[in-house]
Amino acid sequence: DKKSPIPARVGLSLMGWKPKTQAEYALEYLEVDFENAKNAELTPFQGIIEKGKDFFLTDERGMWSIYEELYTSFKDKIKLNTTVTGIKYNSSMVEVTTSDGEVYTADYALCTFSTGVLASDMVTFTPPLPEWKQEAILTMPMAVYTTIYVKFPTKFWDDKEIILYAGPTRQSIAVFQDLQRPGIYPNNSGLLLITVTGDEGRRIEKQSLEDTKAEMFKMLKGVYGPNISEPTDIYSPRWTQNKFVRGCYSEGTVGMTSKTFENLAKNLGNLYFSGEANNEEWYSYMQGAYFTGENQAKSIVKANHCKEKPQNCTVSGTDSFRACSPVVSTTIMSIWLLQMFIG
Ligand SMILES: Cc1cc2nc3c(=O)[nH]c(=O)nc-3n(C[C@H](O)[C@H](O)[C@H](O)COP(=O)(O)OP(=O)(O)OC[C@H]3O[C@@H](n4cnc5c(N)ncnc54)[C@H](O)[C@@H]3O)c2cc1C
Repeated sequence: DKKSPIPARVGLSLMGWKPKTQAEYALEYLEVDFENAKNAELTPFQGIIEKGKDFFLTDERGMWSIYEELYTSFKDKIKLNTTVTGIKYNSSMVEVTTSDGEVYTADYALCTFSTGVLASDMVTFTPPLPEWKQEAILTMPMAVYTTIYVKFPTKFWDDKEIILYAGPTRQSIAVFQDLQRPGIYPNNSGLLLITVTGDEGRRIEKQSLEDTKAEMFKMLKGVYGPNISEPTDIYSPRWTQNKFVRGCYSEGTVGMTSKTFENLAKNLGNLYFSGEANNEEWYSYMQGAYFTGENQAKSIVKANHCKEKPQNCTVSGTDSFRACSPVVSTTIMSIWLLQMFIG
């Protein structure tokens, strides 16, 4: 029942799942923490419903190549390496100030900052974001999902897609993914992917990569014995430390309802909002970001059309987007593009 949300722990207990052993907790970790980056006490019950089958995809062109075709038509308008520090908005325009002192004025703006950025004081909104918007932002905080890719000269781990490590404490439970399996990377990648979440991820992201490598090696020796080969390399993004994201993706807290998503997406005058956290069905996921961006772009086109032709403002859907996009593209500023390619 979306109207009276309960923690996953309550829902699971009601369904008869009452873990006692470390192995049972590890299984629960795979279903709850690994997906939601939060334990069953903090995850809303409605958040653990499986949305579809997961696939591990690799593509050497990189994720951004999916969007290449989309952005090439307005490549020249993208401003990189520029940080937004202030946004003034009202019902006729939006003014964006950047850290280099430039001021950009537009009829409309679409803001796609993560809820981590919106909840921080990185950008000053004038007037300040209303309380109902702030509440919605804070209800969908950024989760910590720390991926640690460790490279070894030879594989010593189990020949399984997913290996669950039921460490001595609940904090030490981790998921290992065998990336040397055929079809993932070219032969003999020697890669093991270890994922930790929540507080454990936060702790590890404060370490140097050398310290993380040493800690993972020690932990793996405890699992597979002292004779395993030493790791030769490590890659582990520190998303909590990246001030332009401040976590990995939004995850609802107990108490989120449909209203949360409605309020996140609600425009403030001519300032519109999109991004993964705004999509009730696909929050946390890239398709959530995509769908909300597309929908809000259509809303802006519609609002602009209504302003210019109030007598005929019933356009909707993709047609209106196509009909108006050349005009509107000169007056919409998409704030996220400013930082899109910063590592
Ligand atoms: C480790 C990890 C694993 C993930 N796994 C999956 C997965 O398997 N499947 C899946 O679908 N999704 C996954 N995601 C989530 C997915 O990456 C996000 O949901 C998606 O990228 C969100 O897109 P967005 O446009 O809403 O926000 P973002 O990608 O955060 O875009 C916001 C943009 O705003 C910019 N910005 C922020 N502040 C400022 C500022 N002050 N000035 C200028 N620019 C600014 C940022 O630099 C960024 O480019 C994963 C994420 C992580 C970190």
